[in-house]
Amino acid sequence: MAATPHGDACEIVRIATSDIGSVALCHQCGTVHVCLQCISLRFSPSAALSLAGMLEEAQRQLVKLANQEPETRDSLDLATPLGRGLH
Ligand SMILES: [Zn+2]
Repeated sequence: MAATPHGDACEIVRIATSDIGSVALCHQCGTVHVCLQCISLRFSPSAALSLAGMLEEAQRQLVKLANQEPETRDSLDLATPLGRGLH
C-alpha cells in the first residue's frame, strides 16, 4: 500500500455509493478515494472537486444530447479529435 500523508493506511468513511462504485473520504488526510468496480483512485480534495465538476458538465451534455432529435444529434460535432479516435 502506498504511503499516506499521515503515515498509516487511510481510515476512510464512505460518503457516496452507486451501482458502479463508491466514494470515500479519509478524515485524517482528506484524501478522496473513488472506487469504480475493480479500480481505486485517490484524489486531493481540490482534484476531487474538479473531477466532480467535469463529470457534472459531461452529464449535462449527455442529457442534452439524449433529449435532442436523432437528426440534430447526428449533426452535432461534440466529439473531440481524441474522442473520434476512440470510435
Ligand atoms: Zn488518509
